[in-house]
Amino acid sequence: MSILQTDLKFLKGVGETRAKLLASEMGLHSVRDLLYTAPIRYIDRSRFYSISELREDMPAVQVKGRFVRFSMEGEGAKRRYVGVFSDGRSLMQVTWFRSLKYIVDKFVPGKEYVLMCKPNFYKGIYSFIHPEIEPFDPDKPPAGLQGVYSLPDTLRRRNFSPRFLTGLVSQIFERGAVISETLPAEILAMHNLMPLGTALRVIHQPKDMASVTKARERLKFEELFYLQLHILRYAVRRNNSIRGQIFGTVGRHFNDFYTSHLPFPLTGAQKRVIREIRRDMRTGLQMNRLLQGDVGSGKTMVAFLCMLIAVDNDCQACLMAPTEILATQHYDTISAWGAAIGLNVRLLTGSTRASARKEIDAGLTSGDIDILIGTHAVIEDRVQFHNLGMVVIDEQHRFGVAQRARLWQKNSIAPHVLVMTATPIPRTLAMTVYGDLKVSVIDELPPGRKPVTTLLRYEESRFQVYRALHAELLKGRQAYIVYPLISENEKSDLKSLEEGYEAIREKFPSFKVCFVHGRMKPSEKEREMRRFVSGEARILVATTVIEVGVNVPNASVMIIENAERFGLSQLHQLRGRVGRGADQSYCILMSKQNIAALTRKRLNVMTETTDGFVVSEADMRMRGPGDMEGTQQSGIAFNLQYANLASDGQILQLARNVAASVLLGNPQISGLAPEQLALDDIGAHPLPLSLGSLNILASELKTRFSGQHDWSRIS
Ligand code: ADP
Ligand code: MG
Repeated sequence: MSILQTDLKFLKGVGETRAKLLASEMGLHSVRDLLYTAPIRYIDRSRFYSISELREDMPAVQVKGRFVRFSMEGEGAKRRYVGVFSDGRSLMQVTWFRSLKYIVDKFVPGKEYVLMCKPNFYKGIYSFIHPEIEPFDPDKPPAGLQGVYSLPDTLRRRNFSPRFLTGLVSQIFERGAVISETLPAEILAMHNLMPLGTALRVIHQPKDMASVTKARERLKFEELFYLQLHILRYAVRRNNSIRGQIFGTVGRHFNDFYTSHLPFPLTGAQKRVIREIRRDMRTGLQMNRLLQGDVGSGKTMVAFLCMLIAVDNDCQACLMAPTEILATQHYDTISAWGAAIGLNVRLLTGSTRASARKEIDAGLTSGDIDILIGTHAVIEDRVQFHNLGMVVIDEQHRFGVAQRARLWQKNSIAPHVLVMTATPIPRTLAMTVYGDLKVSVIDELPPGRKPVTTLLRYEESRFQVYRALHAELLKGRQAYIVYPLISENEKSDLKSLEEGYEAIREKFPSFKVCFVHGRMKPSEKEREMRRFVSGEARILVATTVIEVGVNVPNASVMIIENAERFGLSQLHQLRGRVGRGADQSYCILMSKQNIAALTRKRLNVMTETTDGFVVSEADMRMRGPGDMEGTQQSGIAFNLQYANLASDGQILQLARNVAASVLLGNPQISGLAPEQLALDDIGAHPLPLSLGSLNILASELKTRFSGQHDWSRIS
């Protein structure tokens, strides 16, 4: 057995009680857990600093010398114990605020000590506050860098010191433990990676920072490699075992619509994406594709044309949208397009009347209905299809994985699945969270669109903002004014929304204003939205209810109040509501003047670019991948210890490529013969795979992260 599996309780100085605490408070059970826990920072034990060298921005450093005297100073809460310390040339202070009883008399003047602390500069003199102190031992060899471990307060209170972990780690290495390698030798050699044993040792007891970087690289690679191997292997298996409808022909409906009824020529990107989808639908395997396209890029037409292919192959198609408004809007568009070629398109939502529902149920089971459009209502058990061949899910991040899976369980042969999203996902995130889906990107807007002009304005310019808004309204345009309502229960938010609504009605008495927020009844909301969509109301005052997908091409102004309180991707989504027609549109970010630097940076990203991918990359850099939309919803609790998806893109790409070549070269790992592996586009594209598999993947990953990285466990 490798030392890595050894229970921590068997180490000297641990025992049952402490082992239990390490497990419950830090999740450390085995030697492996401990060795994979990297220090949070390093302190330089390679030399002693002189007091005259100290600078305030230094990390913790060592100073050697003697105490000159001690005194108790201050009264009550300000009481402190102060030592004057000399390195032989200059003086500094050492101060204790806590545990005074224990400190007094612990150290004696004249004796030689080594202090270790981060320098603090106060009132013209350097001081160490609660430094680590040990008697100077001339026989002790100079150490290199020393790791500092983070230790939860709960353990500090139980008399654990950060040095305790340092001691355990040294004990493991002193035993001469053999750490078995977890990556194949060829991979280590080919990519110049440190062996695991070396990397772990360096992480804990480095000579210099350069080797720490190298060791971290190796651990990051290992982590990402196994992650990608799991994703890709799963994708391959899935790809080879789920039968899909074969849509061999493009028939009457598609051709009729395409040649005689297309309302506009398709963009090059739309055509390319349709070709990519067509290719998937012919293979006999279930398609699982993510269609990314910025707001307004024309995803609906792509979805419609693909649904026509399903219909041409004697199948039904279904489109699911996250809100009633969106479903209705899709229905209006698609039933109009469908009417031209004699399609039976129906709408099913929570507010569909019982009599209509009966009719829809019957039409679906008989096959009379070609296309069903709806909300969550379409995934209810009572909804049964004659032969469902294609499922389109709009704005995927609103749906859970499980909900999606229910849709495609509605047929004995899995329907093809197209997930559409306007939230661009950074490439590194897509490679992991959606690493098992094929991705198509519409990277071109329909011709004639002008990029939305985005401006950041402060309260003092409100008058000018309203004047500009007025000018747009006079031109016949419509406008959105959005307020943050972070929590629908937040009273103060609701109040500012209501006040905003009243103020706007007063300022613009000659224009109709409508009002929507999340706490309204769905029917009221619907009514107000319709007033805006129809053009009757010219200004919509709302919370982020409108975020997803409403299409009002005549709207040319988006004013976002308290923009500093919105996240980047949300701002981008909101901005996408305007700029849908041919006119110049404006997005005005209203903000307090007094905002944090990072907030200003975030808002500046918006004013500088309209490219959703640039926005999402910036968002990930600023917030970290864990907070990105999609990560949480995907159900994968990414438990990356070393790698950071925001900054380790290069290592990630390498890990993915190596994992793919391992799968190609060692098919026994995936349990399939090489000719069965449809790996043509690994690397260039993520692989097709069911969405539901993400959950299984998540549990697989959990095992992987808690277990040992053992090569033999991969199959
Ligand atoms: P999204 O990708 O945000 O769902 P939509 O499908 O709603 O975008 O399309 C936005 C608008 O652009 C719609 O009014 C649609 O009819 C129009 N549109 C889509 N494709 C084209 C095109 N190729 N040429 C011109 N207009 C288009
Ligand atoms: Mg849309």
